[in-house]
Amino acid sequence: MFTRITLPYANNALEPQIDALTVETHYEKHHKTYTDKFNDLIKEAPELAGKSAEEILMHLDKAPEKIRKGLKNNGGGFYNHNLYFESMIPGGKKPSAKLEKKIKEDFGDMDTMLKKVFDAATTTLFGSGWAWLVLKDGKMDIVISANQDSPLQDGNPNILLPVDMWEHAYYLKYKNAKVDYVKEYYKVINWAKVEERLDKAR
Ligand code: MN
Repeated sequence: MFTRITLPYANNALEPQIDALTVETHYEKHHKTYTDKFNDLIKEAPELAGKSAEEILMHLDKAPEKIRKGLKNNGGGFYNHNLYFESMIPGGKKPSAKLEKKIKEDFGDMDTMLKKVFDAATTTLFGSGWAWLVLKDGKMDIVISANQDSPLQDGNPNILLPVDMWEHAYYLKYKNAKVDYVKEYYKVINWAKVEERLDKAR
């Protein structure tokens, strides 16, 4: 049984950047629905019992063909949203000197990295999807994916930071101003969590 992370903050704790109604709707409705549907699909495939969501999503070809698309969408929704909600902290948490050093090595400086993520999320990506900061071949990189796809489908489990660019992530507060949403999201990112993922990357 796959379970959503318990939110490490109250629904209103990310305000003013991410409003309480958005957190509540996003977590209690969208994230819950992806998770419930994912669990329902798993019941149809005993061969997937005991596998992690990451493993299932990285090897969708091993799943029964008739539920593959459902697993990709709902399993992806489950996995991506656990990462997303875990990536935020009230008031944000700045990168450590160690993380900043790595960012400087790979991008020149923090602002350049943030601008690249921002452009990927708001311009390169069209429609619903995600922008991701990942580690690939030891180097930080930025990729995008449509729908609930993720770097897992490209064989890369080393996701460092997700940016949810589905309208449900921002529309209640920001309407069509997705650029404002990303700017504000930056203020609540928990960079300690990003560093933790970087340390675990393989
Ligand atoms: Mn979402």
